[in-house]
Amino acid sequence: MISTPYYLIDKAALLRNLRIIDQVRERSGAKVLLALKCFATWSVFDLMQQHMDGTTSSSLYEVKLGHQKFGGETHAYSVAFADHEIEEVVAHSDKIIFNSISQFERFASFAGDKPKGLRLNPGVSCASFDLADPARTFSRLGESDPARILAIIEDLDGVMIHNNCENRDFERFDELLTEVERRYGAILHKLNWVSLGGGISFTSPGYSLDAFCERLRRFAQTYGVQVYLEPGEAAVRHTTTLEVSVLDIGFKGKNLAVVDSSTEAHMLDLLIYRETAPIGTGQGDHTYQVCGKTCLAGDIFGEANFEQPLQVGDRISIGDAGGYTMVKKNWFNGIHMPAIAIKEIDGSVRVVRQFSFDDFVSSLS
Ligand SMILES: *Cc1c(COP(=O)(O)O)cnc(C)c1O
Repeated sequence: MISTPYYLIDKAALLRNLRIIDQVRERSGAKVLLALKCFATWSVFDLMQQHMDGTTSSSLYEVKLGHQKFGGETHAYSVAFADHEIEEVVAHSDKIIFNSISQFERFASFAGDKPKGLRLNPGVSCASFDLADPARTFSRLGESDPARILAIIEDLDGVMIHNNCENRDFERFDELLTEVERRYGAILHKLNWVSLGGGISFTSPGYSLDAFCERLRRFAQTYGVQVYLEPGEAAVRHTTTLEVSVLDIGFKGKNLAVVDSSTEAHMLDLLIYRETAPIGTGQGDHTYQVCGKTCLAGDIFGEANFEQPLQVGDRISIGDAGGYTMVKKNWFNGIHMPAIAIKEIDGSVRVVRQFSFDDFVSSLS
């Protein structure tokens, strides 16, 4: 038995999402790139690269990883490139997308023949958290003024617009895109490609896939552009669990179970976005608050029901641990970093990475 804690990526579950991605590619004509900032566990790229067109990135290291480990089309984007990075960024990418006109002007000449893009911020979004809202006031993410963008349009091949966030509602996506068309139509007509970013939950059950594909196809036709999508979460939702063991049981007005992992170190977004994780099957009459083992008072995965009273040594599966988890794990409290394991389509499980005390030491100096 593999010792806990470990992330377990289920390739069969991943394939379910990838098949939906295939449908969207076929029916809409859009190309689909994995957003590496959400998920960069390259041991499953062999499967993902069969169903996605490439990767998009947020930094030099991500663009290099995408180029080396995923292949296909590699989009480079960063909120700000540094002078010492730009040549390597260009060498590892097929397109370079600048966040601002000033970055565009500083670095466009380095891009040579490679297509250059700009991040367009339409000033509208569906984000419910200000922290993650690209349209928040004083946002540094992208350019909004049509006149300023039109001034450099001859040198632009495309734009990237990322203003959706876990948007499960096709109607809302449609409204936002219509608003983009209304304000930026003149710009869109002059481009070769438009990336609509990530944050669209089109792999969720019940999503209006037909309408979505039709909308993308129509958009591409209207402006004569290649559409790109950049899913992170939608590619990996419900594919991965964090497998943990119970270390201690207590009662402090509630049943508590302390496990050998931590939200802050291993599933950080639960804390940032005040969410709780789906835990186990949720069935049964025995309710516990499942807590992490760091000294952070609010290190709590969530509350869950179990069939039997929990005991020290019991194993628990924490759900939806694929996106924004492994890419954000850290050594807070020096606790054991979860290994990474893959469940193959045939059901066999193999550990692809383990971390040790030496990795902790070498992460500091
Ligand atoms: C974060 C991000 C994505 C991926 O977002 P998800 O919500 O994980 O789909 C795609 N494109 C850009 C520019 C991003 O910043």
